[in-house]
Amino acid sequence: MAYTYDTNNIFAKILRGEIPCNKVLETEHSLAFHDVRPQAPAHILVIPKGPFVTFDHFALEASDAERADFVAAIGTVCRDLGIQPGEGGAGYRVIANSGDHGVQEVMHLHVHILAGRMLGRMLAKPGE
Ligand code: AMP
Repeated sequence: MAYTYDTNNIFAKILRGEIPCNKVLETEHSLAFHDVRPQAPAHILVIPKGPFVTFDHFALEASDAERADFVAAIGTVCRDLGIQPGEGGAGYRVIANSGDHGVQEVMHLHVHILAGRMLGRMLAKPGE
């Protein structure tokens, strides 16, 4: 089944400049900005500029340049936040919610970078 990209999703509107974002980084193929409902002291979203729905969609169909740029952008944000465990930072979590079971709300690939507090167990069952 082919991936279907909805050009009216909110991150597509951010990329077209139709609604604002609190930008932290822009590269040739990626954009990073603050999440409007932060779940941690640092909560940054990194998105590719291309029309990709999920992480697997991007991983399988993006160009090498887009993939390299996206991964590098995530690294740059981590470095700029000072959260790298190997560099004296306290660590972080990267999450890419995908599809129904992943509880993805915005259907444009985004990676959450969460940091600045103890994040607890990786998963909780619904209702916990
Ligand atoms: P999810 O699709 O479940 O991985 O999460 C979507 C995330 O996008 C949520 O954490 C929202 O708070 C965030 N979000 C929704 N609209 C905006 C916006 N206009 N600017 C920044 N973050 C947003």
